[in-house]
Amino acid sequence: MKIQSVHPFLGNIGQPIIISGPCSAETEEQLIETAIELSKTRKVNLFRAGIWKPRTRPGNFEGIGKEALLWLKKAKELTGLRTAIEVGTPEHVEHALKAEVDVLWIGARTTVNPFVVQEIADALKGVDIVVLVKNPVNPDIELWDGAIERIFNANVKGIGAIHRGFSKFGNSKYRNIPQWELPIELKRRHPEMTLICDPSHICGRRDTLFEVAQQALDLSYNGLMIESHLHPEKAWSDSEQQVTPENLVHLLDSLKIRKQGGTEKNQQIELLRQHINLLDKELIEVLNKRMCISDQIGTHKKENQLTILQAERWIEVLESTVKEGLDKKLSKEFIEKIYSIIHVESINRQNEIMNH
Ligand code: PEP
Ligand code: MN
Repeated sequence: MKIQSVHPFLGNIGQPIIISGPCSAETEEQLIETAIELSKTRKVNLFRAGIWKPRTRPGNFEGIGKEALLWLKKAKELTGLRTAIEVGTPEHVEHALKAEVDVLWIGARTTVNPFVVQEIADALKGVDIVVLVKNPVNPDIELWDGAIERIFNANVKGIGAIHRGFSKFGNSKYRNIPQWELPIELKRRHPEMTLICDPSHICGRRDTLFEVAQQALDLSYNGLMIESHLHPEKAWSDSEQQVTPENLVHLLDSLKIRKQGGTEKNQQIELLRQHINLLDKELIEVLNKRMCISDQIGTHKKENQLTILQAERWIEVLESTVKEGLDKKLSKEFIEKIYSIIHVESINRQNEIMNH
């Protein structure tokens, strides 16, 4: 499966492709006014709008439906902006093609279902259109790649991927956790495929959009999909993450676009390095968490007048980590060295707590 870039169709080479527009088409006026404002910025390559909205819970706004396709067509005629919508069934595809929508995307809740993806692929057989496949809600690279393969097998040659983060349980700074290593692996498998980041659905809020967008560009993504609304606080869906067209411009103007380059081989090395960088960040994060818990133990020892060094515990930790390491083909010497450094640091911190 050799997937070619759709960059030349979607945007200007060397510049990130910018896809923007409201989470949902709400009214004709809202849709057309937004398209006009976005086209005035001259920074947007593609106008997005949700016509059918897959909602996690029933009772929320589920989209206007096919009536909004007429508004979208009008918006395109007035502004010249090409259009993109989400399709979740073969019927959606049929309506979208009739209404001459330029780009279709498959949403995260659809990518998880091979039956539905296959039905969509069948409806797209041989059609000359660009299809962007969002990652599934769960971090499963095979499911994502499998959906791409189904669309590819339908002879749709204009394929790209959108990274919108992965579901979580519990608290996180993100609405959907980025888990950057998955899109990096996807890019390794398909080096030429256009990869777009959707910071809006990763962040779920406005104030962190910039940092996620910048990180995506630093990881050589080809473009960004960012939701925009004339009055974000009044939006019928995803109101907390949408930005005004004016703020979209501020955000885009603040992004640093660094040069990519090098041969394909160098780019492969670059991807592997980026992967290492992400793992190093995780390593530091885990070390920090471990030291914080060790500090709590230090406080407890102080309150209960216990000694810092409890030899049996240390022997137990060392034995179990060496065993764990050997299972993963990490040598005994390596684990012992690392753990004695970690142990000494813990003891020093606990000592500090005991004596201050
Ligand atoms: C959307 O783009 O509005 C959307 C519903 O996205 P996702 O499939 O990523 O949740
Ligand atoms: Mn949305």
